[in-house]
Amino acid sequence: MSAYILDVAMLPGGWARAVRVSVDAAGWITGVEPDAAPHPDDQHLRGIVIPGMANVHSHAFQRAMAGRAERGGTGDFWRWRDVMYALAARLGPDALRAVAAHLYAEMLEAGYTAVAEFHYLHAAVDDDGPRCMSAALVDAAADAGIGLTLLPVLYQRAGFDGGPLAPAQQGFALDTARYLALLDALAAKHNAQMTTGVAFHSLRAVDAAALNEVVAAIDDDTPVHIHVAEQRREVDDCQQHLGARPVQWLLDNQPVDPRWCLVHATHTDPGELEGIVSRGASVGLCPSTEANLGDGFFALEHFEALGGRWAIGSDSQVCIDPTEELRWLEYGARLQAQRRCIVSSAQAPHAGARLYRAALAGADGLLGRRVGAIAPGYRADLVALDDRHPLHAGLDGDARLDCHVFASPPRTVRDVICGGRWRVRDGRHEHIDALAHAARSVQGAFDA
Ligand SMILES: [Zn+2]
Repeated sequence: MSAYILDVAMLPGGWARAVRVSVDAAGWITGVEPDAAPHPDDQHLRGIVIPGMANVHSHAFQRAMAGRAERGGTGDFWRWRDVMYALAARLGPDALRAVAAHLYAEMLEAGYTAVAEFHYLHAAVDDDGPRCMSAALVDAAADAGIGLTLLPVLYQRAGFDGGPLAPAQQGFALDTARYLALLDALAAKHNAQMTTGVAFHSLRAVDAAALNEVVAAIDDDTPVHIHVAEQRREVDDCQQHLGARPVQWLLDNQPVDPRWCLVHATHTDPGELEGIVSRGASVGLCPSTEANLGDGFFALEHFEALGGRWAIGSDSQVCIDPTEELRWLEYGARLQAQRRCIVSSAQAPHAGARLYRAALAGADGLLGRRVGAIAPGYRADLVALDDRHPLHAGLDGDARLDCHVFASPPRTVRDVICGGRWRVRDGRHEHIDALAHAARSVQGAFDA
């Protein structure tokens, strides 16, 4: 049992001062008391403290190619994918662990405290391949101290026509029985900082029979993630082969509900958006990646007007900063609408604060653990923002959070507690130098 005293904290009911947060040995919040008198053993978190952000969509290995596919010739999404396949083919478990551990430490420094890892590098050359690659990610998350929801991905065919996987895709493949066996093996490793869910790469990579078999095999509270409608070509192919747009097909054929994360959902029509809202599913938006890949822009303003749930992800890892993802979302919508402050309303006038709270709430249920609030029963994931920069002078509450989201100076995240453990102090992760050294050496091998 430990306790923290927070100068100013964002609680579910609003901002509060002198908040005493009690945490049990496993890292769960057991009590939250505003206007508290500190005890001698309490640890002090200075400045303004907000819940850590959930990153609902990550492919850790792609950090090794971030910024390295920006030349002509990697022009469209499908050419970028070829570059990504070439990297995937060269990654073994040790290299994956090194790249992911450094990435996860960087996520913590940026204020992400939980990550859903959409993992398809099974490299299934033998029976131990999938387990080794999953174990590499579990170990990487433990190295960095971030909360992990590992989502092994089912990936079985090259496209809607049922064609066999290309050689570059073979390492992603698992038959359904081996996939379910992998889930069972990982379930035995669950702890307070690690759990699992299921993921389907996309409707183009998994047929209805396999989808149904896996969905029937999981518990009612297991998160389900799927890439959907990221590219127009995928929408066209789905209509041609399944007779419906991909989001509509999912709504019509699967038990889509609040544990489902529809990743991207870029090319959706108004009826599909209404369907997502009515089922309570969340959309996993990755605006920096969607921009980098030229995917398109999600209909945020319309979805917000419907009361839709959404969360954010770093996806291809070109950007490791939740505030930048949130800015991209709002700015994309502003550029489309030629107006300011798209997500704000009379009830929630502060756009930055509204974006931050919406992303926290939209992730609830997608990670298989309670994250995203400073409240009993949630993970003790606390992010303390530096309040010494002149930009922050005189600001507090939602106005201060607006400034964090829209005008973050460097190193604005000062301290990070994740699962009740202190991981970042004064902007630096406790192991960042060693993890960076290990990641640099494997990166050099890729580039050779
Ligand atoms: Zn993705």
